[in-house]
Amino acid sequence: MDVRLINISALQHFAFCQRQCALIHLEQVWQENYLTAHGRQLHERVDNGEPETRKGVRFERGVVVTAPQIGLTGKLDLLEHHKLSRQFVPVEYKRGKPKASDIDKVQLCAQALCIEEMLAVEVSNGALWYWQIRKRIDIKLDNQLRTRTKSLITQVQQLFANVKTPSPVKGKHCKACSLVDICQPDVTNNDGSSGYITALFNTDVE
Ligand code: SF4
Repeated sequence: MDVRLINISALQHFAFCQRQCALIHLEQVWQENYLTAHGRQLHERVDNGEPETRKGVRFERGVVVTAPQIGLTGKLDLLEHHKLSRQFVPVEYKRGKPKASDIDKVQLCAQALCIEEMLAVEVSNGALWYWQIRKRIDIKLDNQLRTRTKSLITQVQQLFANVKTPSPVKGKHCKACSLVDICQPDVTNNDGSSGYITALFNTDVE
């Protein structure tokens, strides 16, 4: 399998919709809606802060990570270095509130795996900060979460190695998808335009 570095954000996109993940990361298609715009503004505010040290904790923002062994690259919103305990704690900012799925934790765990590879340390905890409820939730990065994260990384690598954008699977998630106008799941699913969409995106429609 041809393995390339995948962006940590691809894990979230893959869990949301495999087609959306392929459109964004394989075909570089991007379109913003109010959800993505709000999320981007939040991350820009967080990422642009200056590094600082308070009460024995160093706060580094917008930390770029590259970890070839695990196969990931990306940018952390915030990395805390607790000097006394020598702990590194990634903190990810989210615009919404905690989700039913574990995907936010998976993204955080992927960040931790990168830090572990780059700094040769163990990262046992991270935190998710949710803008909508203004709350920080500490997350234990246990073996179960690590296994799930590595499994998702492998699945995304396989998707990218196939170099093939999956057909749309229309669902409730399409309403929140910023690419719905480009993907056109109704058209692609229900009429003869699938050939046009296929040609447009160089996709396979089964
Ligand atoms: S519109 Fe639906 S099927 Fe198409 S990329 Fe978005 S979530 Fe996936």
